[in-house]
Amino acid sequence: MSADTVARLMMFWDYDAEWGAERSRLPGGKKAWGPLEATCTERLLHLHANYRVPACFAVVGSVALPGTPPYHNATQVRAIHAAGHEVASHSHRHEWLPGLGPQALIETLHASRAALEDCIGAAVQSFVPPFNQPYDYVAGQSISLAERREAGRMRTDLRRLCDGLRETGYRFCRVAYRPLMQRFAEAVTRRRLDRPVRPERIAGVTCVRLNSAGGFDEPVLRMLDTCVKQRGLLVAYGHPHSLHAGNSQDERHLVPFLARVAAYRDAGALQVVLPAQYYEA
Ligand SMILES: [Zn+2]
Repeated sequence: MSADTVARLMMFWDYDAEWGAERSRLPGGKKAWGPLEATCTERLLHLHANYRVPACFAVVGSVALPGTPPYHNATQVRAIHAAGHEVASHSHRHEWLPGLGPQALIETLHASRAALEDCIGAAVQSFVPPFNQPYDYVAGQSISLAERREAGRMRTDLRRLCDGLRETGYRFCRVAYRPLMQRFAEAVTRRRLDRPVRPERIAGVTCVRLNSAGGFDEPVLRMLDTCVKQRGLLVAYGHPHSLHAGNSQDERHLVPFLARVAAYRDAGALQVVLPAQYYEA
């Protein structure tokens, strides 16, 4: 895409289903929200249609295999695609990618893409890593000591992930690394210091970096305003299963966010884009 003449929004839903619930890395381990993914996604499809805002649903590949919820839901994956949203891969079983060696990485990338493409009958070339990791990306001045400690020498860092993505036919990745200087400044000011971003290339893959914490509450609304003023790109995301969880991803934040997005769009000040548009052109 050419230089930005208008602000852009790229909106993601990370669709984990039972695979993500069972592999939660948050305190307490396994979570009970797996079955909520399907019901909340149904509601989301309705809301997105209401405001005519397309999104990218990053779906765990195993969800697209035959079987029943909460592990599988091929019918819903097809409904997401049919509604005009993009379907991206969110790995095959919500693996923690830093812990995978080269072979296991290729396997999850390949298997998820094949399952999703078979399900929707269309190309899947965008990827969203589970847990937003790896963060470790030396060329981006981002070092993750935790990933290095836990995953060891054969680990997948961001450069290796993008090498694997390119090898398995992907062309886009959402990334979340944060340069050391930014993290240092954030530690001092005790808040996220986000700015509008531009797509970047890592190992031949088009990447956009998250510039909002998960959700759609006040800080993300302010970031939307900033991006409109500066004609930059906002990358926002949430999880369907959190739609009624009372956190920043809750419907009571999402609806005003969608309304403001629609207002900016109708005024010609914002374009809602999907990852695929960044490499189809
Ligand atoms: Zn996830």
